[in-house]
Amino acid sequence: MSRIPKIVILGAGYGGVVTALRLQKTLNYNEADVTLVNKHDYHYITTSLHIPAAGTGNPEDSRVNITKLIDEFKIDFVKSTVTHINLEDKKVTLEDGTLSYDYLVVGLGGEPETFGIPGLKEHAMNIRSINSVRHIREHIEYQFAKYKREPEHPELLTIVVGGAGFTGIEFLGELADRVPELCKEFDVDPGLVQIINIEAAPTALPGFDPELVEYAMRVLGDKGVTFKIATAIQECTPEGVLIAGDEFIKAGTVIWTGGIRGNHLLDEAGFETMRGRIKVDEFLRAPSYDNIFVLGDSSLVISPENRPYPPTAQIACQQGVVVAQNLIGSIRGSELKSFTFVNKGVVASLGKGEAVGVVGTRKIKGNVAALMKKVIDNRYLFIIGGVPLVIKKGKII
Ligand code: FAD
Ligand code: NAD
Repeated sequence: MSRIPKIVILGAGYGGVVTALRLQKTLNYNEADVTLVNKHDYHYITTSLHIPAAGTGNPEDSRVNITKLIDEFKIDFVKSTVTHINLEDKKVTLEDGTLSYDYLVVGLGGEPETFGIPGLKEHAMNIRSINSVRHIREHIEYQFAKYKREPEHPELLTIVVGGAGFTGIEFLGELADRVPELCKEFDVDPGLVQIINIEAAPTALPGFDPELVEYAMRVLGDKGVTFKIATAIQECTPEGVLIAGDEFIKAGTVIWTGGIRGNHLLDEAGFETMRGRIKVDEFLRAPSYDNIFVLGDSSLVISPENRPYPPTAQIACQQGVVVAQNLIGSIRGSELKSFTFVNKGVVASLGKGEAVGVVGTRKIKGNVAALMKKVIDNRYLFIIGGVPLVIKKGKII
């Protein structure tokens, strides 16, 4: 390769942005051409999307213009949607053009996993992007307004959340905080509103510390959430959901937070995937492609206990650092670095002033955990945008 190598990064999520910022900082002048492609001209802070989804915060606070993050003298930003990855020709097809690459970084994130459950794709909403959370917020408000015109349909005020993983639980916390405001705004009797969580596993937050799970369920229960645990959603229709035991719950709103899979473009490109995610090698490369790095929700990394790590922003950011280092190593012909995930902990918000978490070996809950959540969110903003971004978009502590 005698000309300057071309690096194309697909997706400006957590993994893509951290990779781009690291390359921008480390690459020498004329060492590589770097292009970052993303379907929007903003990066969204996925980890706080449950807030605008419930309407307790503004979607604007969960997004940052990409050109405010990167140095456009060093990185070309292309706002476009990737429609195909052509592995043979080393080309990426966009909705409005084509890009060729020598090195590719796949950070296209994930998509809702519906497990083939009938009707979920068509009738349930997901917390995935700025556009999807605007839709959820508007939809719930619309159901309240509609109920005032059709009081014979109290089910318009029922909100079903499918799945009690971290996304479902964080959304329930915000939603329960929002309902009293909605009731006031639309003159609705709070006793008529139902928030029902349906979880297939024998517990909410499967795999998380049982004492903290109990605490989270108590906090949410006190705020008005009803849990149906060990109960799978079997079908979703425009009128509601069919659950195990052949019970039908009528609901004006169904939010599906039942898990995620990799981006469909990976299967379509011909990569070998597991639930749409590419099992990467120790250097975060796709099997059989030494020039393709995969990270974040598009990737699958197996832990020393032989289990896949959960797809999180935390792992995506750590992968971004190593992918950038390995791209530079590949270009310079130096040694690549193995990826090792360092789990810094998990904190899940339960709405205003409440959260649960495990940081290191320490369990935290209540106000302390809620404060820690804000610190974690602000730390990420600091990493990608320094103090100015923390001031502009950060959480007040
Ligand atoms: P993403 O951040 O999803 O970014 C993918 C990017 O690719 C997006 O910008 C998207 O627009 C772009 N893209 C997708 N398709 C195309 C295309 N065809 N063409 C062009 N661009 C495209 N994890 C934590 O560690 N801590 C948390 O507290 C936490 N909270 C969460 C809260 C919620 C409500 C949710 C939903 C998730 C949370 N997660 C959390 C998980 C975390 O957000 C994801 O694991 C993380 O966003 C994955 O990063 P990524 O870079 O792989 O993809
Ligand atoms: P998840 O896969 O972690 O949870 C999905 C839940 O849905 C599971 O509990 C599962 O049992 C349940 N489910 C599946 N099928 C069902 C059915 N038919 N009926 C009812 N319930 C069903 O997905 P998630 O919560 O969206 O999280 C995705 C990733 O993002 C995870 O890795 C998670 O750790 C991460 N995340 C982290 C945070 C945080 O750290 N604060 C917040 C949100 C998400």
